Amino acid sequence: MKRIDSIVHLEQKCTGCMACVDACPVNCISSMVGKDGFLYSVIEDSKCVGCGKCYSVCPIETKKKHGEEQRLFAAYAKDSAKQNNGSSGGIFELLANHFLKQGYFVCGAALDNLTLKHRVVRGEEEIKPLLKSKYIQSNMEGIYEEILGLLEKGEKVFFCGTPCQVSALLNSASKAKRELLFTADIICHGVPSQKVFDEYIDTLKRKHGGEISDFSFRIKDNRYKHAHGYSYKVIKNGKTRVVNGIYTSSSFYNAFKKYLIFRNSCYDCRYATLDRVSDITLADFWGIEKYDFKGSVDAGVSMIVTNTKNGLDAFSALEEKIVYKEFPVQYGVDSNHCLTHTTRKPKKRDAIIEELAMNGYETTAKKYFGCGIIHRLYWWIPPSARTFIRKMRGK
Ligand SMILES: Cc1cc2nc3c(=O)[nH]c(=O)nc-3n(C[C@H](O)[C@H](O)[C@H](O)COP(=O)(O)OP(=O)(O)OC[C@H]3O[C@@H](n4cnc5c(N)ncnc54)[C@H](O)[C@@H]3O)c2cc1C
Repeated sequence: MKRIDSIVHLEQKCTGCMACVDACPVNCISSMVGKDGFLYSVIEDSKCVGCGKCYSVCPIETKKKHGEEQRLFAAYAKDSAKQNNGSSGGIFELLANHFLKQGYFVCGAALDNLTLKHRVVRGEEEIKPLLKSKYIQSNMEGIYEEILGLLEKGEKVFFCGTPCQVSALLNSASKAKRELLFTADIICHGVPSQKVFDEYIDTLKRKHGGEISDFSFRIKDNRYKHAHGYSYKVIKNGKTRVVNGIYTSSSFYNAFKKYLIFRNSCYDCRYATLDRVSDITLADFWGIEKYDFKGSVDAGVSMIVTNTKNGLDAFSALEEKIVYKEFPVQYGVDSNHCLTHTTRKPKKRDAIIEELAMNGYETTAKKYFGCGIIHRLYWWIPPSARTFIRKMRGK
């Protein structure tokens, strides 16, 4: 039977989903941090029984297909608190609550002491840490096993993650068990590593001379509305203060926005296509201003692609709680490059990853992660002026 290490150029292709670690029946696969700061799996040859489970769950090799009719919607939560809780229109939270009411467990990515891992929850009060995008690769080790254990007992699970994680989960479950799963994927254009994020947090600790907590990407406030704002807490001498800003003033966020520090496989992702693996796809509806869609678009609008009948039924169940409109699927394709092609790899990306390993975060960030004056000025002007500029540019 084939093992994952029979995949040609595995190191460049490995998505870091970690499904192989969970799938191995003799625990001979473990994870380790590679030179580039991302998690990879290693096989202990002497223990391997050659069962091929690691290969069969790997999302590089196996991608389940639906072939059902897809529909595309723009939508956001009518409840403005919920719209603000999400990165885009807050649709994930509505779906999570809908499934919790039906007795499902919910699984999503949550920061725990600034380390990102997926987590399975059961109650509405546990949903908050799962909300909002975190621009780091989430560690899924142990999660496949936990979910399969629940499915084995006849429990139902709503899982949300990147398309490669969804694919790995679907590959891990038998056909009968997949009936108990509802999956949502987020459109993802690439993930930075936990290691580089940790090093960035260390620079913040040195800068402020205190501890850092509660880092949040995609905050929405009156200045930035639906944009790439961030916030974190500084704890110093027993006092806590909140720091916030737009991505232009964060070296890490700026590097993320410029695609400089993604996992190698993200630049050659087989899931960057309209051919989705999940029941429902969640994304930002960037450029909604140019379409005929009325409402509070400044606070974030989600783009939703229903990929299966189950996906459409779940979205329809939210009808009373959302403002929405259907558009041709092509509109989504036009506004989101991840539905047709992968993120281009910047020429200096490999040099940056090497420099991070050799010279550390601060030196590399000074050299590469700055932001130009035009971008800074753009975020300095009032939101209404930015909306006007976007409309004029047809974006
Ligand atoms: C790394 C990353 C890149 C993205 N790139 C794009 C893009 O290029 N274009 C686009 O339109 N949208 C992108 N998104 C998706 C978008 O930002 C929103 O997550 C999505 O629209 C859902 O928003 P929401 O308001 O419905 O819910 P939210 O409350 O924002 O729900 C977010 C959901 O995503 C899960 N999640 C958060 N971070 C991660 C992570 N690191 N890994 C796995 N799951 C995670 C959470 O658990 C939760 O289930 C990206 C998201 C991430 C995490």
